[in-house]
Amino acid sequence: MEKYGHLAAAIRDVPDFPKPGILFKDITTLIGKAGLFAEVIDLLYERYKSSRIDLVAAIEARGYLFASALAYRLGAGLVPIRKPGKLPAETVSISYALEYGTDSVEMHKDAIKPGERVILLDDLLATGGTAAAACELIAGQGAELVGTAFVVELDFLAGRKRLAGYDVFSIVHFAGE
Ligand code: AMP
Repeated sequence: MEKYGHLAAAIRDVPDFPKPGILFKDITTLIGKAGLFAEVIDLLYERYKSSRIDLVAAIEARGYLFASALAYRLGAGLVPIRKPGKLPAETVSISYALEYGTDSVEMHKDAIKPGERVILLDDLLATGGTAAAACELIAGQGAELVGTAFVVELDFLAGRKRLAGYDVFSIVHFAGE
């Protein structure tokens, strides 16, 4: 069993969600257990506690579940990265390719100041398209992108290749479906 096998075991597989052929990794069964949720936040905190993080930037919506607890522990602020049309003030936006079509992510234009030390956090790294777009947004504001962090990484989708040049940290790895 891998090092964090007990965390992997707490993540529920939901076949064919949200569409046929996708094996959805459901982290609600992990965060529903107080001890396991705390362990995940503690592991993330240990990784970044000495990195002088100013901001945790997190991807809608499951990234937020971990980001607010982590930001609080790190003494950092929180920056929401959202799907188009959700943020009320002026935004910057990046589009990225999906298997069919495109999607985009947005962030408030004034959310990050040049030189601020930022980590990007999401629940899961799959193909890396979303995270790569978010990195582009953050770096585009002149921030220092200290690293990217994920609770789960689907190794077989090679998402970290899309994040070449950035530090990638993930806790639970799934080698195959
Ligand atoms: P990607 O851009 O392919 O790396 O997709 C990442 C985003 O989609 C993350 O925000 C994940 O929450 C979600 N996602 C993609 N694939 C899965 C999966 N198999 N199980 C759960 N969430 C997924």
